[in-house]
Amino acid sequence: MAKQLVVAIDGPAGAGKSTVAQLAAKELGYTYIDTGAMYRSVAWLTLQQHQPVTDELINSVVPDIDVDLQYADGKTTVLVNGEDVSTAIRTPEVSHIVSQVAALAPVREKMVALQRKMAERGGVILDGRDIASHVLPNADVKIYLTASVEARARRRWTELKAKGYDMTLKELQQDIEARDKADMEREISPLVKVDDATLLDTTGLTIEQVVRRILDICRRH
Ligand code: C5P
Repeated sequence: MAKQLVVAIDGPAGAGKSTVAQLAAKELGYTYIDTGAMYRSVAWLTLQQHQPVTDELINSVVPDIDVDLQYADGKTTVLVNGEDVSTAIRTPEVSHIVSQVAALAPVREKMVALQRKMAERGGVILDGRDIASHVLPNADVKIYLTASVEARARRRWTELKAKGYDMTLKELQQDIEARDKADMEREISPLVKVDDATLLDTTGLTIEQVVRRILDICRRH
C-alpha cells in the first residue's frame, strides 16, 4: 500500500479503539495517536492541583500544559511537561472527570490543533470521539467502533481488575454510561457517527477479528 492513509477511529468508551488501533498501526507501519490520552493528560494535571475541580481550574492548566505522545515499537508514552504519565492517566479518578475536561473549548482548541499537526504527514491512525466529524473530516478511512454497554464495561473492568483496582462491574458500567452521555450530548464536537464512517460492532468479536476488518477496509483504499 503506497499511500500513507489518515485513518480515523471514533466510538464510545471501552469499544476497544485503542487496542485495535494500536495493533492495526503496527501492522501497517503507521503511527498511532491516542487522542483520549491527551484529554486524560489535562484531567491528570487538573487533579495535580489538589483543588476542587471546576471549569475555571481546568482552563487554568491549559496554557501551560505541554502534551507529547511518543509512539515507538507499538507502544505510546504520554509525557506531560516532560513527565511520563502513561500509567497515571488511566486511573478511575482521571476517567471520572475527563468528560468534564473534554467539554471545554480552550481544552479542545489546544488539543485539536496538536492532533491536526501530528496527522499532517499521513500514515497515522487516530482514535477518539470527534476525529472524523471535526479533527480530520477529510480522513481517508473513517470507522465507528462500538459494542454493547455490557461488553464495554466488562472489558474495562477486566483491565482495571488486572491492575488491582477494586470497582464493581455495576459501578464501572454506570461510569461508562455517564461518560458516553456527556460525550454525546456536549455542545462542542460531540461523539457522533458520521454518515461516511463504517460501523463496526465489536460485541462478540475477538481483537484479531476486529483488527483484520480494519486492515481490510484500509487495504481497499
Ligand atoms: O478514549 P478515552 O476513553 O481514553 O477518552 C477519554 C475521554 O476523552 C472521553 O471520554 C472523552 O470525554 C474525551 N475525548 C474527546 N475527544 C476525543 C478523545 C477523547 O472528547 N477525540
